[in-house]
Amino acid sequence: MHCERIQIDGASVIVCGSGPRKRFCRYCGARSVALCDWPKMRRQPTPIDQVKPGSMIYRFTSSTQPDEVIYLKPQPAKGEVWMATRRGNQTFEHVITEPWKPVLVAVQGTCDAPCCRRCLRHVGPDRDYCRRHWNAWSAIS
Ligand SMILES: [Zn+2]
Ligand SMILES: [Zn+2]
Repeated sequence: MHCERIQIDGASVIVCGSGPRKRFCRYCGARSVALCDWPKMRRQPTPIDQVKPGSMIYRFTSSTQPDEVIYLKPQPAKGEVWMATRRGNQTFEHVITEPWKPVLVAVQGTCDAPCCRRCLRHVGPDRDYCRRHWNAWSAIS
């Protein structure tokens, strides 16, 4: 698919076009024809009222692994939200004092590496993998 992630007012937005993007291959620098569709987790800034128990969130922007949300308890009188998250068998309690700030939720995205024709492999309908990921894909399939 020919999609691209851009930033609009601090939010991440996916824009899909019909033609190839005028970009360059991540691997060899030739003109790219498509983006890699390899599934990959990404960080989606999400308003806290859309975060639910069971959501996977990144507690800190530097977190490499997401935590699972156990509960959210809004405290309207205080203007706070109390939240608990879990990673493995560890539980963390948080007091969110700025609940208007978006939370980074882990969502399924794609690799999106721009690739030229030579560095891309068509592996299925509407699915192309970049040079790095078709190796990973052929190793597991
Ligand atoms: Zn290339
Ligand atoms: Zn890829």
